[in-house]
Amino acid sequence: MPPLDHATPKGDDSLLIVLRPDATDQDIDHIVGRLREIGADAHVSRGKTRTIIGAVGDRIRIQQLPWEAFPGVDRTVPVLKPFKFVSREFQAADSVVDVGGVEVGGGHVTVIAGPCAVEDREQLFSAASAVKKAGAAILRGDAFKPRTSPYSFQGLEERGLELLAEAREEFEMPFVAEVLDPRRVTLVSEYADMIRIGARNMANFTLLAEVGRQDKPVLLKRGMSATIEEWLHAAEYVYKEGNHQVVLCERGIRTFEDQTRNTLDIAAVPVLHRLSHLPVVVDPSHSGGRRDLVAPLTRAAVAVGADGVLIDVHPAPETALVDGAQAILPHEFEGLMDQVRALAAALGRDVIG
Ligand code: PEP
Ligand code: MN
Repeated sequence: MPPLDHATPKGDDSLLIVLRPDATDQDIDHIVGRLREIGADAHVSRGKTRTIIGAVGDRIRIQQLPWEAFPGVDRTVPVLKPFKFVSREFQAADSVVDVGGVEVGGGHVTVIAGPCAVEDREQLFSAASAVKKAGAAILRGDAFKPRTSPYSFQGLEERGLELLAEAREEFEMPFVAEVLDPRRVTLVSEYADMIRIGARNMANFTLLAEVGRQDKPVLLKRGMSATIEEWLHAAEYVYKEGNHQVVLCERGIRTFEDQTRNTLDIAAVPVLHRLSHLPVVVDPSHSGGRRDLVAPLTRAAVAVGADGVLIDVHPAPETALVDGAQAILPHEFEGLMDQVRALAAALGRDVIG
């Protein structure tokens, strides 16, 4: 047999191995072991009544084994989607991602809010206290900022992460922060409860693989010119490394329209819910890029079935070092939360907070 090169499987075909309801853990271990031996990735999905093992790797090698003859196996089904692990075919049930004790996914509405960037202690604490009081479940705030101009404020770096960790203790809310550089992934994941990959890095495959090796949930934003399929491929990069805690974030795409910073692709939410089991949240701040659009786009996100929203809130947007034009004020956020709760209730959904 030629040497196995696990990192570069020759094909990217996959097969679902559906087990019988009475399959044992030993049967599962046996199948997973055989898949690993032939250089394939194995993903075990334990459902209420039966377990499904997804195999991704070289088609010839996977198909040459008589899976139906293995103990515990009921049948096999080929997966035709180019993205495998993150597809609905692979896992029918919604994934629910745990962010420091807060759930994202599974039909609830989870509100993530806070300043775009951490500027200083006072600014962060004032924003965090306001969003917590209004009912947000997760705090946002960045220590590393991807700026269009290299001369713009780039973030407080580790000091920013320390302040976010202090805010987490003070206000009892987990936080999400962006990572820009594969060399800083371990640093950010030591502090943050969730790591964000920004739009500009959605196709940074080295970075995706690195966060895929962390034990922290990942918020994966859509690249500004990425198709939904390209975005799901990016999610697959994270997932296949073993990190299954992936949440997608629609943040608007580039179109010819220039009244808004980006065009919010609201249809992406139901399209993704059909194609993938991953939770999908919407960023009404970076998509519209305008304070007056945050409330209507948030309402649209809840109405269309998004699993959550990511909202920029700043205590004094006119002094903000980053993205002041789209940040809403604490009292505006409070009013918006009332609308989110009312809308969610009308649709039979609950708001986590
Ligand atoms: C952000 O959320 O602060 C951000 C930089 O967003 P995006 O990557 O979507 O531009
Ligand atoms: Mn921003």
